[in-house]
Amino acid sequence: MGDGKSDSDRRIGRRALLIGGAAAAVGTGVLAREELARLYWRLPGVRRQRVEGAVDFRGARWVAASEANFRWADRPDDYGIDMVVVHVTQGDLDSAVKAFEDPGHKAAAHYIVGKDGHVTQMIRELDVAYHAGNRAYNERSVGIEHEGFVDRPKDFTDAMYAASARLTAAICRRYDIAVDREHIIGHVEVPGTDHTDPGEHWDWDRYLRLVREAQATAA
Ligand SMILES: [Zn+2]
Repeated sequence: MGDGKSDSDRRIGRRALLIGGAAAAVGTGVLAREELARLYWRLPGVRRQRVEGAVDFRGARWVAASEANFRWADRPDDYGIDMVVVHVTQGDLDSAVKAFEDPGHKAAAHYIVGKDGHVTQMIRELDVAYHAGNRAYNERSVGIEHEGFVDRPKDFTDAMYAASARLTAAICRRYDIAVDREHIIGHVEVPGTDHTDPGEHWDWDRYLRLVREAQATAA
């Protein structure tokens, strides 16, 4: 019957809109379950399925930030990532972790790199961390904190530079971000900020050289 046919056409049409042409062409029941799930999670506004404790940087320790300190998202599908923002914690590692766990803090970065070179991840790169104090920059960037004080150059250890450079190299590779000072910036360079980190003692030439070396080694 005409009505039945148009009904079914409409249903396939809706499915095509929802999960893409490939799924509609194959029809129901044929497409692998994982494939459907993958397409489903690409829908805008849908929170991607998470694996508890998963990290984006191999070897990082996972400690979850308070949900008040970031926004669930599905980057890079909903917001493209083209920037890394370098911060300094103005305190030790433990106090930074506690601050990011605290819903009253209203800010957190994706990562904290310790003086000993250990990396703690507190927010998935999928999500928008409140670290830059600028909505557009938060949406387009990954924030990396470094344990220490801006006026204490000895806090920026060799182990910290090396680990942070490996982390930034991996982020730049993942999202095809150019390794230069246009795309790897300090918090101080974010428009509208009153923060000064990472400060005058952060060695940008050294850092970018290490990021490039880490990329070359991994390639
Ligand atoms: Zn900062």
